[in-house]
Amino acid sequence: MIVIVGAGLAGLSAAYHLRGMPYKILEREREVGGLCRSYVKDGFTFDYTGHLLHFRQTAIKALVESLLPDRLQRHARKSYVYSHGTYTEYPFQVNTYGLPPEVVRECLLGFISTLSPSSSPPPVETPSFKQWIIESLGEGIAKHFMVPFNEKLWQVPLDELTSDWVSWLVPKPDIKDVVSGALGIKDKAFGYNPSFQYPVSGGIKVLPEAFLPSVENLAYDSELVEIETGRRRAVFRSAEGERTEEYERLISTIPLPELVRRCVDLPAPMRDLAGVLRWVSVYNVNLAVAREHLSDKHWIYFPEHRYPFYRAGFPMNFSPTMGRPGCSSLYVEISHQPTQHQSEAALIERGRRGLEEAGLLQRADELVMSDVKDLYYAYVLFDRYRSRAVKELVAELERRGIFSVGRYGLWEHTSMEDAIAQGQQVAMRLRMRAAA
Ligand SMILES: Cc1cc2nc3c(=O)[nH]c(=O)nc-3n(C[C@H](O)[C@H](O)[C@H](O)COP(=O)(O)OP(=O)(O)OC[C@H]3O[C@@H](n4cnc5c(N)ncnc54)[C@H](O)[C@@H]3O)c2cc1C
Repeated sequence: MIVIVGAGLAGLSAAYHLRGMPYKILEREREVGGLCRSYVKDGFTFDYTGHLLHFRQTAIKALVESLLPDRLQRHARKSYVYSHGTYTEYPFQVNTYGLPPEVVRECLLGFISTLSPSSSPPPVETPSFKQWIIESLGEGIAKHFMVPFNEKLWQVPLDELTSDWVSWLVPKPDIKDVVSGALGIKDKAFGYNPSFQYPVSGGIKVLPEAFLPSVENLAYDSELVEIETGRRRAVFRSAEGERTEEYERLISTIPLPELVRRCVDLPAPMRDLAGVLRWVSVYNVNLAVAREHLSDKHWIYFPEHRYPFYRAGFPMNFSPTMGRPGCSSLYVEISHQPTQHQSEAALIERGRRGLEEAGLLQRADELVMSDVKDLYYAYVLFDRYRSRAVKELVAELERRGIFSVGRYGLWEHTSMEDAIAQGQQVAMRLRMRAAA
């Protein structure tokens, strides 16, 4: 028996690709989807912050499109950066046109200085994220976007972070693109997601739900509380009490430190390794106002510290069915340390004030809905301890028949597409082992 823990995209995809083999899938919540979920309040649909589909893997794109035939719409990305009182297109580094001339000059000169060959020997270690920003993009882009934005997002000094994750998320432009972007010449789409797909209606939760007809033996309200890895027994708690599942292999998609904490017979050095893993949480503040067409954009990045949020988005621009006629909905994302908490009222007030300062809301706007969700595990921190800890933990767990996958199972920054791909890959590995 294969036991799958967690019915987010990674767990559902594993179950889908294990069809025909004996498996059970157990989920703590009373619905599927994990982070890829949506909810409705007072006639407005919100994701647990906007979740947009962008594909790099043709097989996963084909799978998602087959699960949601005619239910996805393609959008040309309208994402912007708001700074110095001006909107510039994302990514900042190739779109500085429109900023004050002295800012554009600093960004250009800084970028040009990164192009001269360095006289110092190549670094032995991966540079810190801060060093990477300055060496790849220059002092100006660092000062006016990359450093303040990322400090707000990650909530730690950027020299504590490594740069081994940035390559696909932060595109390194060439000089022609940087100069064209400073002059306002637009001759190509840039970035990892110049277009995206999104469900025509229902929010992103229609994606995990589309797996359900092909998934069996799914139990909700079943929280993994303990694993004896030696005896291959896992204990789940639900409203009815506790039950034990025996397994040959276990696929876990829950956060790696949570998994390790539940494995009661792991050696102490393994527990210590899990203790070094760090992450940042995100408050997802969802608002709606009685005014139409608040913005024509999909989402906006806010690097400046005077705005408490690092990003705001407009769900009704992904799909007009996400809200009530005559109204607009929006969300803002505010990072916080997992141990720091703010009241819902304070977060709504901070969000509202920031949006007024940015000119997105007006004083007279009536909030017709407000709500806050706390995404406790949102972004894992890539620091100098992470890589070794994850590698050793994943290998030790595999020796004990446990496969830790998914965004938080592998403790990484990956997308919905990656979670689906990882579920597929682990299912294929187990199929091959069973056939051997
Ligand atoms: C703010 C934010 C914005 C994002 N935006 C995008 C985007 O626009 N596009 C994109 O592609 N990706 C986006 N992502 C990433 C995307 O959400 C994830 O890659 C994907 O949803 C991860 O799926 P998963 O199955 O690996 O993990 P999860 O969704 O975390 O699933 C894990 C499941 O395990 C369950 N679980 C946890 N503990 C237990 C337990 N003890 N017992 C039983 N079950 C348990 C959970 O309830 C959950 O259902 C975003 C992520 C964040 C944080």
